[in-house]
Amino acid sequence: MTPHCSYHCRACGAHFSSLRAFDAHRSGPMDDRRCDFPDDAELVERTGICKISDPTQPQVGVTLYERADSQDYRSRMEDRQAAPRQRSMDAEAA
Ligand SMILES: [Zn+2]
Ligand SMILES: [Zn+2]
Repeated sequence: MTPHCSYHCRACGAHFSSLRAFDAHRSGPMDDRRCDFPDDAELVERTGICKISDPTQPQVGVTLYERADSQDYRSRMEDRQAAPRQRSMDAEAA
């Protein structure tokens, strides 16, 4: 299924599927965080949809970053909060 951007970085305009992925692209001290995609970020690139940058005009086919280790985590989350979220996403897509 197509991942959606849930954390949008206003600073660099990148799209992320999770807060952990978002965190991973930032480095530096808390008062001087920068976007620099460190080599150890372990982010994988996926193609997804962003409705955050412009809700009236979803961007399809954007590069969306996801934690390399999040595949299992995500399927677990989807199982747990199952239907309602899935249903609303289907409705939006239709
Ligand atoms: Zn950024
Ligand atoms: Zn985005």
